[in-house]
This record gives sequence, structure tokens and C-alpha cells, in this order.
Amino acid sequence: MKTIYFIGECMVELRENDEDMISRSYAGDVYNSAVYLKRCFTDTQTAVVTAIGEDSLSTKMLSRFKDEGLDTTFVFRHPDKNAGMYYIETDDTGERSFTYWRSDSAAKKVVRFLNDDVIRGLAGANMFFISGISLAVIDAQDRGAFWLKMKALKEAGVTIVFDPNYRARLWQSEDEAAAEFKQAFSLCDIALPGVEDLTVLFGVNTAEEALAFCHQYDIAEVIVKNGPESVITSLEGQQQNHPIVPVTNVVDTTSAGDAFNGVYLGARLNGRAIDEAVQLAAKAAGTVIQHPGAIAPKDAFTQAMAACGL
Ligand code: AMP
Repeated sequence: MKTIYFIGECMVELRENDEDMISRSYAGDVYNSAVYLKRCFTDTQTAVVTAIGEDSLSTKMLSRFKDEGLDTTFVFRHPDKNAGMYYIETDDTGERSFTYWRSDSAAKKVVRFLNDDVIRGLAGANMFFISGISLAVIDAQDRGAFWLKMKALKEAGVTIVFDPNYRARLWQSEDEAAAEFKQAFSLCDIALPGVEDLTVLFGVNTAEEALAFCHQYDIAEVIVKNGPESVITSLEGQQQNHPIVPVTNVVDTTSAGDAFNGVYLGARLNGRAIDEAVQLAAKAAGTVIQHPGAIAPKDAFTQAMAACGL
């Protein structure tokens, strides 16, 4: 069985609905990717590596992980921190705004749970996924230790995957983010950047420039996402352009990139060629953006993917 670990933060999502009531769900870039991967490739052991609290919302979140079929072996419980949370409001014009409570969340402490036994357990994986959001969330003083542990995984033969997923507000400065991203690009074997993730920090404006940027590093497989425009990939230096069929009824683009990442990596882990993996990933992303929120309803999603033979 193939195994992939996603490290990062899942948050409680609160959303105001029409009746001025609040509904609750769970979301976070790495969690979203894990969910969509598992829904498509049920035989792939898909795990979230994170820290949550001992509070009741954390317990409900853990149940949701299990309901989605995710492996929770490395979901740690912090004795006195809670799960992060955010609240989405939509104004009369449909514009969404977000309020976050995540600056002191349990997930910030995840590195402290990665002791030698845990690293030995993680070293059995085929892939280990890190996002720029995971890096931003980790306590700054733990980052040195984090990179040592990631190097140990790489030396053990685990394929390290990185999506920069740049969120300016999560970083103290652009320099801090750029330094962490360079570490990640230096270490990873697969990179999945969106063009916009590299614009502010590295002056990258096109998919071709994003590919050239990644080629400065020794990254075997690069997948550049460029919204509805195109996807460009490079495997061992072999470049391919993949057209994307634009979706016309876009409802909410939240987690398009996350769905793409999860399904792409699932497909690659299960032996699909790059072109097929991109087509499946693009179908997943194109489906997710036709539904509100980060996690599309399971039935609608799996039906859409079944049409592609999954
Ligand atoms: P992005 O994060 O905006 O680059 O989007 C990630 C992926 O979602 C893209 O690589 C596309 O596969 C897909 N995607 C985003 N926007 C659209 C759209 N309007 N129509 C179809 N697919 C899209």
C-alpha cells in the first residue's frame, strides 16, 4: 500500500448561513488535499500530521478525519492549546471576509511532537507533503528542528513534496517567507507552485518563469498551476503543457489548488503518467470550484471523478 503524509493545520470553519445561524465544518490546505486524494484513491494510506487540542471541537475534528478515511496515527493532542478557527461572512454583494483565531493554535506546536520514534514511523512513507502555509504556521523557533527532521525523512528515501501556497498575512516579513521557501525548494523532489505564490517573493509572473525559477533547484518533478489558463509540468527536465478546460459556473475557488494537489499526488503514487495525473487533478479542482466551501459534498465529487474512471 502507498502512503502519503500531509503536515500542517486543519481549522474549524464557521460560516454564517442565510438564517443568521452558524454552521461548522473543517478545512485547511493540507487537510483538503488529503480528503480529495483519499476520496479518489481509497487504497492509498493518507494521513494528516498535525496537533489539535483536547477541546471538544478538536475531538469532533478528529472524528471528521476518521470519517474521511484519513489515518490519524500522527494527529497529536496538545494538553493546553486548541484547534485554530476561522469565520466566513458574506456581504450583500457576495464578497467574503474571513476572521481567524489561529495565532496560538495547537498546530503551531506540531514539530515538538516529532520525536525520533515518530520520525522513524514517518520514514516508512512514500511521500511527505509540506505547504507554505504549514511552514508559516510552525512556531518560528521550531523551524531549524523541522528542517533537520525533513532532511532525515529525505535521507530515508521519502519523496518530499512542496507547494509554496504563499499567504502574506501569515508571515512576519517577505524575507522570512522567502528564506523558508528556498529551504523547501532545495529539499523537495516534487514542487507544485501556483504562479501567484512566487510573484511577490521572487518576481515570477508567468508559468514559464515559475518553471525556470524551480529549475534553479534540483527538483525532479515540477507542476506549475496557473488557474484556468494552463498547467505546465517538467519531469526530469522534460517539459509538457497541459490545457485546462475552464469551468463557466465557478461558485467558490477555495481549495481548487488543494484538490489539484491531492488528486495529482494520489494519481502519481498509483502509477499514473504525468498527463493523466494532471487531467484527473484538473477535473477534481474544476469540480470543487462548482461548490461552496473548501470541501465539496462527497457524492457530487465522487460522481464527477467516476466519470473519469476513478
Ligand atoms: P489555481 O490555484 O487558481 O492555480 O487553481 C488550481 C487549479 O484549479 C488549476 O490548475 C486548474 O486545474 C483549476 N482551476 C482553477 N480555476 C479554474 C477554472 N476557472 N476552470 C477550470 N479549472 C480551474
